[in-house]
Amino acid sequence: MPRGSLPSDSLTLPNSRVPVVARPDVLVAGGGSAGLSAAVAAARNGADVLLLERFSYLGGLASGGLIILLLTMDDGAGRQAVGGLCQELVDRMERRQAIYYPPRSSWNDPDPKLVEHYARWGLVWGSGPHRVRYSVAFDPQAFVLAADEMVKEAAVRVLYQTWACEPVVEGRTVTALVIQNKAGRQAIIPKVVIDATGDGDIIAAAGERFELERVHPWLWFLMSGAQLPEPSAERRGLYFQTPGKGHVLVPWGGEARTTHKIDATNPDEVSAALAECRQLVAEEAGRLKQGTPGFEDAYVSMTADQLGITESRRLQGEYVMTRDDLDREFPDAIARTGHWTKYDCVYNVPYRSLLPLGLDNVLVAGRCISVDHRVHHATKEIPPCMATGQAAGTAAALAAREGGNVRQVPVSTLRKRLLEQAAILG
Ligand SMILES: Cc1cc2nc3c(=O)[nH]c(=O)nc-3n(C[C@H](O)[C@H](O)[C@H](O)COP(=O)(O)OP(=O)(O)OC[C@H]3O[C@@H](n4cnc5c(N)ncnc54)[C@H](O)[C@@H]3O)c2cc1C
Repeated sequence: MPRGSLPSDSLTLPNSRVPVVARPDVLVAGGGSAGLSAAVAAARNGADVLLLERFSYLGGLASGGLIILLLTMDDGAGRQAVGGLCQELVDRMERRQAIYYPPRSSWNDPDPKLVEHYARWGLVWGSGPHRVRYSVAFDPQAFVLAADEMVKEAAVRVLYQTWACEPVVEGRTVTALVIQNKAGRQAIIPKVVIDATGDGDIIAAAGERFELERVHPWLWFLMSGAQLPEPSAERRGLYFQTPGKGHVLVPWGGEARTTHKIDATNPDEVSAALAECRQLVAEEAGRLKQGTPGFEDAYVSMTADQLGITESRRLQGEYVMTRDDLDREFPDAIARTGHWTKYDCVYNVPYRSLLPLGLDNVLVAGRCISVDHRVHHATKEIPPCMATGQAAGTAAALAAREGGNVRQVPVSTLRKRLLEQAAILG
C-alpha cells in the first residue's frame, strides 16, 4: 500500500487489480533533462531501462518550457564544472548548428564589450563585475531531437503520454509503480526507481519527507520577425538573441509580472496560472511590438507549453545541502556545478543528496534533490540536473545488478564509473 495518508472523504476503488506490463532493472519517472540523463546513463551501464514521460517529448522545462539556456557549465573562473552527458548533448546540438556559446579562449574574459555581447544572448547573469561564462544558448527542437537520438542509441524504452502515479511501498522498497496512460492503469515492477519528475511526485506519494516552495510562475516565449539592434546600440526591454535566426527569447514572468505565488503541485492553482499567464504574455507581446524599436513586425511564434516553475518539492534526504557547503569537498561527491550568478565557486553534490531516508531502491535526480532553498538556486539549473541525472542513472545500474539496494552501491566504484564517462567531480 502507498504510505500517503488519505483524507476522511475518500473512495475505495472497486477494481484495483491492474496488469503488470514491464519489469525493468531501472524505471525513470520523468523525461526532463535529469530523467533523460539518468535513463541514458543507466542503459549505458548495462541496465534495462524504462523511461516514463507525461508529455510527448523529452527535455521538460529545457525544451517545452523554453528554458533554452544552459547556465552554467563552468565554475566562473574559466574551468569547466559540468561535462559528461550534458557536454555530449551540447556536442550533438552543435552538429545540428543549433547552439551558441563563447569559445574556451573567451571563458573568464572580463572585457565589457565581450561580456555585453554574451549578455545579449542570456549567457551572463547576476551582479557584476562580470566575466564571460561557459554557458550555452540552444534551440529547443534540437534538444528534443538530440535526446531522441540518445535514448534510441542506448536502447532505452520510452513511454510518452504516461503518468507515473502511485508507488507501492513494502517496508523500505518500492515494489511496483502504477502508471496511467491511454491503455488505462498498469503496473511496472522495477528493481530501482529514479524520481526525475522535477516535483518529487514519487517520493511524495511514497511518504518521504520533502519541503515545498511556493513560487511566482513564468512563461517564456519566442518572438519571430524582430530586427535586433546593432551591437553598439542600447538594448531596450529584456529579450535574448537565440540560435534561431530572427527569433528572440522573452524570459517573461516571475515576481515583476505575475500577481501571486503558486504551489506547482496544486492542479487548480496551476490551471488558473496557465490561463492568466497566457493572457498576460499576449499583452506583453503587444507592448513589445508597440514600444520597442525593431519589434514592429514581430509576432509570438512559440509560447512555453508549461509554466516555468523554478521550485516545488525538494527531498529532505540523507543529506540536505546548505549554503555552508559552497566549495566543500565530499568523499561521496557524484556531481559538481558552478553557480550561474556567482563567480569562482562550486557545489559538489554528495551521493547522499540523492537518497530518500526511508527507501532503499529509490534515487532522486534533477531539481528535486535534497538541498535547501539557497543551494537549489544553483542545483536546479539544467547542467547540474543532467549531472545528478547521470549519477543517479549510473548508481541505479550498479544497484540493479546486486538486487537493487542503492545504499549498497560502492561510492568509489560509482565515482570511477562517472569519471570514465566524462563527468567532472571534485
Ligand atoms: C523561469 C525559469 C528560468 C530558468 N532559467 C534557467 C536557465 O537560464 N538555465 C538553466 O540551466 N536552468 C534554468 N532554469 C532551471 C531549469 O530549467 C530546471 O530546473 C531544469 O530544467 C529542471 O530539470 P528536471 O529534469 O529536474 O525537471 P523538469 O524539466 O521539470 O522535468 C521533469 C519531467 O518529468 C515529467 N513529469 C513530471 N511529473 C511526472 C509524472 N508524474 N509522470 C511522468 N512524467 C512526469 C515532466 O513532464 C518533465 O518532462 C530555469 C527554470 C525556470 C522555471
